Amino acid sequence: MVESKPKVLVVEDEPEIRRFLRVSLTSNGYEALEATKGEEAIKMAAEARPQVIILDLGLPDIDGSEVARKLREWCDAPIIVLSARDGENDKVNLLSIGADDYLTKPFGVQELIARIKVALKHASRANATDEPTFTIDDITINLANRTVHVAGEEVHLTPIEYNLLRILVRNAGKLVPQQQLLRDVWGPGYAKEGHYLRVYMGQLRKKLESDPANPKYVITEPGLGYRFKMD
Ligand code: CA
Repeated sequence: MVESKPKVLVVEDEPEIRRFLRVSLTSNGYEALEATKGEEAIKMAAEARPQVIILDLGLPDIDGSEVARKLREWCDAPIIVLSARDGENDKVNLLSIGADDYLTKPFGVQELIARIKVALKHASRANATDEPTFTIDDITINLANRTVHVAGEEVHLTPIEYNLLRILVRNAGKLVPQQQLLRDVWGPGYAKEGHYLRVYMGQLRKKLESDPANPKYVITEPGLGYRFKMD
């Protein structure tokens, strides 16, 4: 059986960056589709049904965030935003309008491909039946019976620690915004209580990580949220 290449739609008006993306994608086994404007991107997404969309924010016709919002009305493909801006609010807003991840320019081929792999894995996981067990290195989390083992030993987590870990590993590799963690674990009134997260993530690291001060798995994305790192 011939496996078809995953289609990645690149939405970028700058020819040099578009070329870099095209070369990086095709040399890594992806099919690159290209759009230079927002309206064109929405049309191409509808016709070609790409598996992943890479979206530049500064487009000549409509803003990238508007493109993401319009795509999200019907399209489930993961959207990775290319951001030249370093304002953290922009990134948080993008996540809230339906983008799945972001890359800040300039970025390298490896970072790009790693993000695409995470996005694809996540998309296929959303369609597949949920796996009850999550394993990385010597950590095993059984989501069905709520147990956690590190190097063969059972680790006792409090309900809050367990719920945070569960959300992180269900989104493994992806940035989970801190508002989402606070809302899902503590409730809608807690969106601004970021210090709760710092305390509990610290406890989680002590229980999971061999060097909690230099975490390998529970990674803080300053000002944005947390990411359970997979590589
Ligand atoms: Ca641009």
